[in-house]
Amino acid sequence: MNDCLFCKIINGDIPAEKLYEDDEVLAFKDINAQAPLHALVIPKKHIATINDIQTNDAELIGKMYLAAKQIANEAGYADTGYRTVMNCGKSAGQTVFHVHLHVLAGRDLSWPPG
Ligand code: AMP
Ligand code: ZN
Repeated sequence: MNDCLFCKIINGDIPAEKLYEDDEVLAFKDINAQAPLHALVIPKKHIATINDIQTNDAELIGKMYLAAKQIANEAGYADTGYRTVMNCGKSAGQTVFHVHLHVLAGRDLSWPPG
């Protein structure tokens, strides 16, 4: 997608601090971190929202969680805990319409979220 911010990061047109990359998945630091660890895990395939995920994307979405697990583990939060969040749509706070998994850790996270 030409006008998608995260596709531009995938293409290298916009810089990002990469934390993980393979053929299908990329993870990088959130530019406006809400916790000591705040990573975004994205598929390299453009999928706008959770509503656009298809059955044949199931393995890809699973790989995003495996990347999240690895990032949290490497940052030392596997045991203390971390939160993964994927917002869907404007009311949930989605601002970038390329699916992304937030990975947050390093402070006490309240529940329920606002
Ligand atoms: P959401 O509100 O769930 O759509 O999350 C979008 C996230 O993307 C926000 O947490 C932003 O801080 C983050 N973000 C926006 N632009 C960039 C960027 N250029 N590099 C890294 N993270 C970004
Ligand atoms: Zn995109």
